[in-house]
Amino acid sequence: MSRPHVLPIDPGVLAFDIDGVVADTMAVFVRLAHERYGLTRLSKQDMLCYNLYDCLGLEKKIIDDLIDLTLDEEHTREIPPIPGAPEVLTELAKAAPLRFVTARCGAESISEWIFSILPDVSRTKITVIASGSPESKLAILHRMGIHYFVEDRLETCNHLKEAGLEPLLFEQPWNRDEPAPGLLRISDWMQLKAGYSIYCFLKK
Ligand SMILES: [Mg+2]
Repeated sequence: MSRPHVLPIDPGVLAFDIDGVVADTMAVFVRLAHERYGLTRLSKQDMLCYNLYDCLGLEKKIIDDLIDLTLDEEHTREIPPIPGAPEVLTELAKAAPLRFVTARCGAESISEWIFSILPDVSRTKITVIASGSPESKLAILHRMGIHYFVEDRLETCNHLKEAGLEPLLFEQPWNRDEPAPGLLRISDWMQLKAGYSIYCFLKK
């Protein structure tokens, strides 16, 4: 595992994935697994790979149902933010617009969720784009002039890195033990904040 780095992060060329980076989406998945299927021993720490079908040992139809429920409008509203994300994003918004690119198919409910966790940020400073697939993120990020992209899916990070971007792999149980040569890892939002502080210091 590579050591976490703190590098100067220019918020003007920074964008974020949402699920697993800003939104603790899997917390809702786990809660629903407990409530609907009595899977009370399941925790996020069991999610040791991104493809849940490969690591949870559950029937496909149960996982499908839990994913559908987790991502629907009602449960999207209930997703807790990842600790530190609202505070750091509110601070970053003072310096640059906030750009989010999600692989979800629709942007509406997750945009409303982003607005709800950032009550002090003007909606005019927030862009949420739903790419519909992880592979489509690259072209969107290119078009937006993004250099740093915070993302929890290792394959997406590798894809972006090959194309010359600097993905920042946001650590989660499903990527923590995966080798990620050449990728920078972000362990939490305080590390992103530190990167921004260094950027501000160097710019003076
Ligand atoms: Mg994600």
